[in-house]
Amino acid sequence: MVVRQAQPKAEPAVDALKTALAQFHAAADRLNLDDGTRAMLSHCKRELSVNFPVQMDNGSIRVFNGYRVQHNLARGPAKGGLRYNPNVSLDEVRALAMWMTWKSAVVNLPYGGAKGGVIVDPKSLSDGELEKLTRRYATEVSIVIGPDEDIPAPDMGTDGRIMAWIMDTISMHRGHTTAGVVTGKPVSVGGTLGRLEATGRGLLYVVQELVREQGLTLEGATVAVQGFGNVGAVAAQLLQQAGVKVVAVSDSSGGLYNGQGLQVRALLSYQKDRAPLTQAAGGDRISNADLLTLPVDFLIPAAIEGQITGDNADGVRARHIVEGANGPTTPEADAVLADKRITVVPDILANSGGVIVSYFEWVQDLQFYFWEENEVNERLHRVITRAYADVAAAAKQYDISMREAAMLLGVSRVVEATKMRGIYP
Ligand code: NAD
Repeated sequence: MVVRQAQPKAEPAVDALKTALAQFHAAADRLNLDDGTRAMLSHCKRELSVNFPVQMDNGSIRVFNGYRVQHNLARGPAKGGLRYNPNVSLDEVRALAMWMTWKSAVVNLPYGGAKGGVIVDPKSLSDGELEKLTRRYATEVSIVIGPDEDIPAPDMGTDGRIMAWIMDTISMHRGHTTAGVVTGKPVSVGGTLGRLEATGRGLLYVVQELVREQGLTLEGATVAVQGFGNVGAVAAQLLQQAGVKVVAVSDSSGGLYNGQGLQVRALLSYQKDRAPLTQAAGGDRISNADLLTLPVDFLIPAAIEGQITGDNADGVRARHIVEGANGPTTPEADAVLADKRITVVPDILANSGGVIVSYFEWVQDLQFYFWEENEVNERLHRVITRAYADVAAAAKQYDISMREAAMLLGVSRVVEATKMRGIYP
């Protein structure tokens, strides 16, 4: 048997933690937070780092590095996705956990924030290796996850099948089915109708609110979407169905552009074979960098953090940015975009459809009672449009950006819960 060295750790992602902390401190300044509360909320409460072996198909053993980080539990059990990506780092997971805390608070869910990650390119593994890695990671983090403690969900590089393996692993350990330990599961094993599309659908509802608020119309508007995975592809499809012209989409290989509009449905079936978008028909090739500077009504970054930065923000020509990804815009870019009067609907509001419907799934699992899809979508609409209205009202009241308003709302709700609970002991 060959035992290989642990993989070298990837470099931290583009300063995701720096971005998250800068956003938090701006809100803390505005709220005049005392030093103690500020220190509490700028740290993650619990950080589990695991190194675990997986036997590969060729008999060798590879050691993988993974994390589960819980930022804050003041408002309820921790909730947040699980990412499989070669660039995962502890700092990135911390940032993503922190954003989950504010996001759950902005949309008023009874959750704290968490995130998990494994440093791996899932596409490089066979199905069997992926299952073994997932089951072993689930076992390693089983000491901190559970329906009452911390509930993972899909994020970049993970999907319903992976959630089913985690649910099954935890259920085997506990001796009974524990459906509520993860969300984003297939419907056949306690998932909810509407979860697969929830983040993209939430983005559609947010765009509809933005359009209504500004007296615009969706029909004939243009959109460019960076990232054609669960979030980006569903958003592109639903926006197209709502009359928007999808002029560009991209994945990590690059993008496709067609000023007359791309055929999203055809691109989706083409992608089923994991083929790179740049080899698809129906448009001209475009780089991810160029996609971000297209003159469109809506730009939806739906891939990774740190895409719109101080270096390229001046070139952005979109009228509105609606953040599907977590942390796609840095604070330096925010300042430039504000000068250019480009509206940014921030991640913690815009992509909250995923956690909202995850909450519905968890509630259904705990009650063993499942809802119709239209009920899920109607409730999603109600929750996300109310949160949009709250954020828009705060932005207007204090004359601040939607990100600043969402952070103000999210942080103040967490501070309130922290104060009500008091500091143990
Ligand atoms: P996914 O794995 O389904 O898809 C990711 C997409 O981004 C793929 O098309 C991939 O090729 C592309 N991509 C990766 N790196 C890229 C790069 N450097 N440049 C351009 N494209 C790149 O992931 P997802 O679940 O759609 O998540 C995308 C983003 O949305 C992440 O930031 C995630 O945290 C966030 N998010 C996801 C959910 C959810 O429910 N899945 C909810 C809220 C937020």
